[in-house]
Amino acid sequence: MRIYEGLMGLIFPDNLYCVCCGKYLGGKTVYSLCRHCTDRMNFQSAEVSVDNADKGMCAMGYGTYERRLIFNLKYDEKTYVARIAADILYDALMVTLSEKKSCPWLEADLIVPVPIHKKRLKERGFNQAEKIAVHLGQKSGIKVSGESLVRKRNTKAQKGLSGEERKANTRAAFEVPCGREKMIKGRKILLLDDIYTTGATASECAAALKKAGAGDVFFLGLLDAGRKNHELVLEI
Ligand SMILES: [Zn+2]
Repeated sequence: MRIYEGLMGLIFPDNLYCVCCGKYLGGKTVYSLCRHCTDRMNFQSAEVSVDNADKGMCAMGYGTYERRLIFNLKYDEKTYVARIAADILYDALMVTLSEKKSCPWLEADLIVPVPIHKKRLKERGFNQAEKIAVHLGQKSGIKVSGESLVRKRNTKAQKGLSGEERKANTRAAFEVPCGREKMIKGRKILLLDDIYTTGATASECAAALKKAGAGDVFFLGLLDAGRKNHELVLEI
């Protein structure tokens, strides 16, 4: 996978083409996005509510352009987008730090990405949240553990499910595997995912981490689909 990413870096050097629309950039731009896409994206440090977690935040809204960015990563295997996503998340945390003079997310001991089931991992080849986590770990200096939380059940895709159905679908779907509790116990965890919708998945992950003895759990998501109307949410 590392060779593949290196190759993609050569084919799509991130200062040449917009990571959202693919337009030729002709020079270095912020987040490797063209002006057209940047102007249509909503960058934020907005708190979101996640049951069982101590805090939650998302770094972007959920419009057409933000979605295209994450879909490029998730479905088109443009894994180099993960680094851009990590840059956006890190900047959102830095904004919080400068505005509120503290940022609990940056005080975390460990970044844990929301896991996907091994069957889905086999199909897709990678977990997009883990890809982003690795880059965020490099930027922030916080250790990353992709093995400290597993998805026990291959839950149905959340697409098209109501809030209650999502809760039922993800209930007890996650656990800290045997032998991994010592990584978690007493630690402050930054729980990372690409899209936040109802918070059901993040909430179940936070519950599993707390059950294993985690200290505070701070959720960090890239896109906040929670505030959009139900029609948009159904498209995820
Ligand atoms: Zn663009």
